[in-house]
This record gives sequence, structure tokens and C-alpha cells, in this order.
Amino acid sequence: MLRPHRGLTLTALLCLAAWPSLSGADDGIPRHDLETRALLQPEAAMDEIAGEIERAQQRGDMQQLALLYLARANACRVIADWNCQREAGSRARDAAVASGNGILTIRGLIADSRGSIALQDFSRGEHLLGEAQRLLQEHPQPVLAADVYLAYSSLSYSLGKHALGVEYAERGLAALGSADEPAMRVRLLRNRARAEAQLGEAEKAQATLQQAQQALGTLNDPKLRAELYLETARMARSKNDVAIQRRSGNQVLELAVQLKNAQLAGLGHEVLGLAAIGSNEDDAAQELRLALDSFRRLNQNRDELRVLRELIPLEIRRRAPRGDVELLIVREVDLGREIDSADRAKSSADFDSRLKYAQSEIELARLKQEAILATERAAALAQTSRLTTALIVTAAIMLLVLAAFFIQQWRAKRRLQLAYEAYRESEGRYRMLADNSRDLVVRMRVDGRRLYVSPSAREMLGWAPEDLHEARWELVHPDDLDPLREAIGRLARHGGSASITYRAQHRDGHYVWIEALGQLVRADGDSDAQEIVYSGRDISARVEAEQALAESQRRLLAVTDNIPALIAQFDTQERYRFTNAFYRRAFDENPESMIGRTLREVRGEETYAVLRDYAAAALRGESVRFEGEIKRNGLDFQFQAHYVPDRAADGNVQGFFALTFDISALKQAQHELARLARHDSMTGVANRRHFDERLGAALARSRRNGQPLALLYLDIDYFKRINDSRGHRVGDEVIVEFARRLNASVRGEDLVARLGGDEFVILIDAAANPAAAEAIAAKLVATMRDAIVTSAGSVHVTTSIGIAYSTGGLDAIGLVALADQALYAAKTAGRDTYRLRTSDGTAGDEEKPVAAGQG
Ligand code: GH3
Ligand code: MG
Repeated sequence: MLRPHRGLTLTALLCLAAWPSLSGADDGIPRHDLETRALLQPEAAMDEIAGEIERAQQRGDMQQLALLYLARANACRVIADWNCQREAGSRARDAAVASGNGILTIRGLIADSRGSIALQDFSRGEHLLGEAQRLLQEHPQPVLAADVYLAYSSLSYSLGKHALGVEYAERGLAALGSADEPAMRVRLLRNRARAEAQLGEAEKAQATLQQAQQALGTLNDPKLRAELYLETARMARSKNDVAIQRRSGNQVLELAVQLKNAQLAGLGHEVLGLAAIGSNEDDAAQELRLALDSFRRLNQNRDELRVLRELIPLEIRRRAPRGDVELLIVREVDLGREIDSADRAKSSADFDSRLKYAQSEIELARLKQEAILATERAAALAQTSRLTTALIVTAAIMLLVLAAFFIQQWRAKRRLQLAYEAYRESEGRYRMLADNSRDLVVRMRVDGRRLYVSPSAREMLGWAPEDLHEARWELVHPDDLDPLREAIGRLARHGGSASITYRAQHRDGHYVWIEALGQLVRADGDSDAQEIVYSGRDISARVEAEQALAESQRRLLAVTDNIPALIAQFDTQERYRFTNAFYRRAFDENPESMIGRTLREVRGEETYAVLRDYAAAALRGESVRFEGEIKRNGLDFQFQAHYVPDRAADGNVQGFFALTFDISALKQAQHELARLARHDSMTGVANRRHFDERLGAALARSRRNGQPLALLYLDIDYFKRINDSRGHRVGDEVIVEFARRLNASVRGEDLVARLGGDEFVILIDAAANPAAAEAIAAKLVATMRDAIVTSAGSVHVTTSIGIAYSTGGLDAIGLVALADQALYAAKTAGRDTYRLRTSDGTAGDEEKPVAAGQG
């Protein structure tokens, strides 16, 4: 346990007792009148305060109650009733908390703290000050802040921490600034002076004390004034300045009387007593005994003990009666024991450690508080900063968005304006074009009503534009009406553009072909309405040309399909591009299946070999005609083909046309004609012309190879008689049968010819000698003797034969003449026989056996 040094208890008491209620007028809640009165008339004020508290309690007016308890605490302080002060301070705090007023709560806390510290409960007092300081962060108030620092400086003094006491006092003065709070200022200066004095800085302390006295001025606060006197006396005593001690003591006594304050009176006597020690020991003893009485009445044990300890040595020195001195000593021992006991009771632990604990608590709490506050402040700052940043960013974004929006708006407006101008311009152009167009330009609603019809309507349809403003469906050709309406409907539904060809009736009645290109557009000035703009062109001439072309093509196709010829068109690669229907008739081929295939593929290698050169010639630009024969379906097909180059408009050959005729019948007819020209029509054997040709050839051959020729010249004997007796027809039948027997009697290579009437010749190419010719003649003579059956019955005829046998040197005429001579000889010889004449002049006029029976 640490015993307080001699001056501590007194000064602590003084300082604690001196704590005023100094709530500034600028804290928003004016101090109660009774609080001020308590400084001067504490006992009267106490009575009034009791009544007021009762009324405020009835009203439930917590704020008023708090103010009244603060006033009571002040009154208790002035009359030095520490228990009263402690209780009033505690209640003031409770009422202030209940009132919900922060400032009032701080004042309550300070008052409560002051009461605790007065009763030396430093720990609780400091705790309450820490709470007050925390609240001050929320409700900054300079005077209350200074009040808290004042309390801290007093507490530091009580704990012997004088450097800290000076520091807190200065902080209080700094917090107070230039505020017009003389009482607070005086107390802070007094605390500083006292702490400075304890630190041995006597001059500083003296100067500070003088500042305090100046600040006090004429302030009507006797208690405070008394405290300053006491402090002045204490300093004077340390310098052995008796005069100042005496004056200060007397001044304190005056105020004690004024305040009826017994403690002050005791203190005043104590000052005077201490001042008199050493100079007037009797006075000193008298004053100290007065002080002792005052403190004893007030149960101020510590004050009494302090005075006793000064008085006992003095009385011993003065040789006072031994019984008196003994009584004083007994009292001193009792008081010492009592205070020790009380101190032990208050302090369960060592007083020094308690002080240290209290101090560390103060610091810890303060640091904690500051840390919390710093954290809160940093958080608040960060929050504010974040908010500010967010606000700035948001504002910037909004500005950007707004700017973008306005730029967008401006651009859109500009675009619209440009588009509108362009539209007006194009509208103007379009209008001008439309007005001057030869085409029919129409703007119409989807329902058919026209908004504009160009003047060309007059020229194209004979109608004035205004005649066409209403829909005139009746002018549309009945066949075209539905397609036209459907096209308009599609355009209105799907938009885009559409082209349609239709007929509209001219005013004079004829129909005009119109090719219209329509487009769905948004109506001018109305985004919802739509209209169709279309441009119609008179294509009547084109339609007529197309129709004529189609008709021409149809005719051409009819011709080509029905012509008995194969007609085909080829490209440069010899691929079929067109074939006519005759292919089916001629070859049973499907004309369509040939399209796209080549000539080679369709006709095969063998036939292509015949055709390829002609096709090549046609593709070179030559027109070629040729004939040929091919096998088709097992039959010979004789054809005549014309290949004609197909020239494009630029003159280049783009293929060729092939026109192929079937000339099989023609060829057959030609053959027949040729045959007829060389044969006798009645008998079918060769005629004179044919004979002449063959005779010439045979003579030439004979001349070449030296082989002899035999010519038999035959004539029917007395033929005239048959004609005459049986008729000319029977005569013909006889001639036909005669020729047949001739043909049947000679070899194939021998030629039988009728030279006319009943005369025939037989040219025998290879008669080895005249006898061979004669043998043939003999055989023929005999053959003819057989009866010939005619329509008029059997007829018997004979023949005479003249044989010319040439071994060379005779021409045709000579040979025939020779044969004729031989015939004449046979006739002359009696007919029904033959005679031979040779080119070398020999004649076989001897009897011929065949002629024997004839005559
Ligand atoms: P010959 O024995 O001297 O030959 O006496 P012939 O009666 O046969 O006299 P000839 O040969 O001079 O007369 C031929 C006759 O044949 C003359 C003519 O009227 C007749 N004749 C000529 N051509 C034809 C004919 O095509 N048909 C018929 N029926 N009679 C013909
Ligand atoms: Mg005859």
C-alpha cells in the first residue's frame, strides 16, 4: 500500500471539490438556474432542487430531471458532501440517458464520474470519463471536452502523475480555445499550476497561477476563488512567504463565512496555522486546533489527521500539558488506523497497483476508443470516399450516357433531316421523272385507290390521270383480273417488289399489254401507312412480236414434225439440240431422248464414220449435201442429207442443221426407170438400147482379150399370119412366150434382147467356136417348135436364126449386118433353121438338120 504524501490528500480534495458544473451555454442545453445559484447559496438551492425534482418526476420530464440532478450534484460539491455528489451525479447520468439527449448524457457522465472520483473510486470515475469522451466524438462540444480533460488532469494529480496532469490541463485549454468560459479556464490553469509545482517548476507554477487569478477576474464563484487562495498559500508556504500565507488564509476564511462552508473554514484556519509555525507558535496552535474542530465536525478524517500531524509536534515544542498532547497522539493513531482500514477496505489490492491499473485502464480504454473511432472514421471516410467515387463515376457515366444520347439524337435528327432532304429531292426527281416518263407511274393505296397517276396515262390508255384516281378494275382484262389482285395482295402482305403483266383497256376499247414493276413503300409522313408505287410499260408490241414468234415457232414445229425428213440441230460438240418428230416415224426413236447426246453416241461408230467428215465440214462453215445408205432396223436406208452451218448473230458457227431425206423409194424408182429404159416392156428382155450398150462393151472386151463373139439374130417365121388370124393380142402372147423360151435356153451371162416386132438377138460372150454357136441355135430352133398355149388356144410357130461369128475386125454394125445376112440365108433356106456367117467370110450354108421338116 502506498501512502499518499502529505500534500496529496488535501490538494486532491481541493481539486475534486473544486470541480464545477460548467456546462457551457453553447452546448444547446442551458444549465438550470438552480445550478448557478448552488455556487452561491448551496443549501437554499438544495431545498428548491428537491421540490423541482419531485415535480419533474411527476411529469416524467427526463431532461429537466437530468438538469436538476446536475444542479444538485453541484450544490453537493459546494457544500463538500461527496456521497450526495456521487448519488446526484449518478442520477443525473441515468436521467440524461433516459432523455435520449447526447450532450446531457455527457454532462451526466462527467457529474457521475466526478462523484466517483471524489469518493476515490478512480476506476469507475475514469470509466465514466472514457464513456463521456466516446460520446463527445458523436457530439463534439468544446466546453464539455475541456471539462473531461479537466477531470483527467485532476485524476492524474490524484494518482501522482503530474506530467500527465500538465498535459491534460493543456489539452483542456486547447479544447476550450477562446471560449468565454472563465470558470473552466481558471480550473484548468489551476490544475496546471498545481502539477507544475509538484514537478518542481515553481516559477512556471507561479505564472500559471497568476494567469488563473487574472482569468478569474470578478467571477462570482467564491468556492473557486477560495481554492485559488489555498493554492496560493500552499506555494507561498513552500517559499516560506508567511505574509502571503496569512493573507490567503484570511481570504479563504472570509469566503467560508460567506458560503457557510465549514470545510473551507477549516482549510482557512489550517493555512493560518501553518503560516504561524516558527514565528508565533501559540497562534499557530490556536489556528490548527480551529481547523481540527472544523474537520472533526465534518468527519473529514484525512484533513483532521493532516492537521493533527502538524499540531502534535507543535504542542510538544510548546510544552503543552502532557494530557492534551497524549489525547492528540491517541487521536492521531486512531485516525491513522481508521483511514488505513478504510483505504484497505476500498482497495482490495495494493493501492499502487490499483493506480497503475487505473492508469493502464484509462490508456487502454482511450486507445481502444481512439482505435475504434479511427476505424469508424476510416470506414466512414472510405464509405464517403466510395460513395463519392461511385457518385462521381455514376455522374460521369450519366454524363457520358446523356452526351451519347444527345449525340445519338442529334445524329438521328441529322440523318432524318438528310434522309428527308434526300427524300424530298428524290421525290422531286421522281415526280419530275414520273411526270415526264412515257411509262405509266402510279402511287396507290393497298385498297387500289390511286394517289398519283402520271400524265402518260393519257397517251398509253387514252384516259386522263384524274379518270384513274379511283380503282378501275373493270378496265383490267377479265383473264388478268385475279392474277393482278393476287399480285397486289402479295405485295401488300410481304412487301418487296413484284412484276406482273396484264391487259388494260384503252379508252377506245382495245387492250394494251402492260408490264408493271411494283414496290411496297412507306407512305410519306406516315410510318404505318403503306403504298405501292409501280411503273407500267406498254409492251403490246413486244407481246405481239412474241406471239408472232410463238406462232412462227409453232408453225415451224408443225412443218418440221410433219415433213418426211429428219431435221436436227447440233451444237459445236455435235450434240443434238433439236430433233423433229420424224425420227419417231422413221426409226421409232424418241426424239427427246436424243437431245444432249452426240451424233456419235446416237448413231454408233459405223454410221458416224460415214457422217463425221460432213459434220466437220458443216462446223467449218460449209454447206454440204451427200447421199448414203445405212442399215436401220435391218433395212437399207438410203438417204440424202444436207448439213448447213448454224451461224450466230455474230456470224460464228455455233453448230449446224441437218436435214436428212429418206430417198430409198426414189432410188428404187430410179432403178426401175433405168431398168425400164433398157428392157422391153412387153417381154422383159433387154431392149435395143441395152443390147447396143452390151454389144459395144462386149466388142471392146473381145478386142482386148481376142476372144470371139457370137451373135444370134432370130425372127419368127410368118408371124404376120398369127396376128392376122388370131389377133394382135395373141400375137403378143406368142412374142412373150418366145422371149421366155429364149431366156430359159441361154446362160445368165448371155444377153437376150428384143430389137423390135418379132426380131430378137442373143449375144453370146464366150462361144469357143462357131459350132458351139450353131449348137445353141439348133437347140433354140427345136425349142420353138413346141406349141405355144395362148388365150386363143395352142399356136405353133418356128424361128429362123442367123449366126454371126466374129473373131475380130468387126464393129457393132458390121456384126449385126453379118447376123442379118445369116438370117436372110436361113429364111431363104426355107425357115425353121439357122445359118452361120463368120467374120472371116466362111459361111455354113450346108443343110442344117434342124431345118429338115420345115419349109
Ligand atoms: P417372114 O416369115 O418372112 O418373117 O414372114 P412374116 O409374116 O413374119 O413377115 P415379117 O417378119 O416381115 O412381119 C412381121 C410382122 O409382125 C409385121 C407386123 O404386123 C407384125 N408385128 C410387128 N410387131 C408386132 C407386135 O408387137 N405384135 C404383133 N402381134 N404383131 C407385130
Ligand atoms: Mg417374121
